[in-house]
Amino acid sequence: MKIKDISVFCSWLIDGLSDKIQENVLLTFKNGFISKIESVKKEDLSIDSVFDFSNCTILPGFIDSHVHLFMSGDHVLENRKVEQNNDYNKTKEIIDNNVRKHIKRGIVAVRDAGDNRGYTLNYKPQIPFYLNKCGKALYKEGRYGNFIGTPVSYYDLISELILRERNKINHIKIINSGINSLTEFGKETKPQFNEQELSEAVFTAKSIGAKVMVHANGRMPVEISIKSGCHSIEHGYFMGIDNLKKMADFNIFWVPTVYPIKAYLEKGKLSKLESDNAARILEHQLEQIFQAKRLGVKIALGTDSGSFGVLHGDSFICELKLLLNAGFSVVEAVKSATINASILLGLDEIGSIAKGKQATFIAVKGHPSHSIESLQNIEALYIRGCLHDQ
Ligand SMILES: [Zn+2]
Repeated sequence: MKIKDISVFCSWLIDGLSDKIQENVLLTFKNGFISKIESVKKEDLSIDSVFDFSNCTILPGFIDSHVHLFMSGDHVLENRKVEQNNDYNKTKEIIDNNVRKHIKRGIVAVRDAGDNRGYTLNYKPQIPFYLNKCGKALYKEGRYGNFIGTPVSYYDLISELILRERNKINHIKIINSGINSLTEFGKETKPQFNEQELSEAVFTAKSIGAKVMVHANGRMPVEISIKSGCHSIEHGYFMGIDNLKKMADFNIFWVPTVYPIKAYLEKGKLSKLESDNAARILEHQLEQIFQAKRLGVKIALGTDSGSFGVLHGDSFICELKLLLNAGFSVVEAVKSATINASILLGLDEIGSIAKGKQATFIAVKGHPSHSIESLQNIEALYIRGCLHDQ
């Protein structure tokens, strides 16, 4: 059977690569890959043979670079406890549901950041969906991280723990600090690992072709992580300008996960002091993102979905809006969730709309300036050249 070319017309295109928004574009694809991108006049099109997305913006399929698929993002603490202790079948139901929520918002790939029993490693999505896995995150025994990882004790060799799951993982997740304090603004926790331990972990990960994502807040934990040669800093609250400069110099990605702190503000039962501090932390992180943009740090959007009040899919829109609040243009925010993330995740076929790339894209109603709001209700999602039934 001869496979036909498929053509799609849109009024606006954000391709993930260019800083410019293209107008009146005809995309043609065959066998799931883009074969042609042309600028056309709508009146010259034969509407019979073209799928018409006039008054729509087309964007590459999105990527969320930091999620915890094993949890729903519920803000009720008792429900969160249950999810952390579910058996595999119950967890699988939650993951299936979360994957559906991502797809609904046009998110076609995620990078998981850890679950406490490594269940995600055994999960295979039923629909076309990229899932980069790490299984259990690694944290220092006695420190923060038990609900998403496994402890590294004084007697353990971190390299052995990394090699144990070498055939199942795409990347390694290491936790190298605590979390933000809501009672003491900007309080820094000690690094969990020293530079030698982290360097050994990164060396071992690289030897099996895996990248390393490091959870780190505060100057010292981030500085040590950068020196170890890791690939991305997760959260990076209060890391400071010097660390941002080093990240730009060494091409280390930053996944700032801003929405989780806003979720606390919106859904947490906080005291006046805690809510004032949460608001200040949020402002401080947006200012750091603005500085990162100025310095040329590569930012990949990550939501930390599954965390307290951070729902899969929905929080992606919130995180995009927060990048706009930090001074990003719509195109820059889209790039952080497409091309930048595809480089970080090593997914070359997606993340941009260009000749030879996979025909995986979203159409949303209206001008690009409304495109982030329009993700609430996407017009169409094509995955590998096929229209996905929402
Ligand atoms: Zn996380």
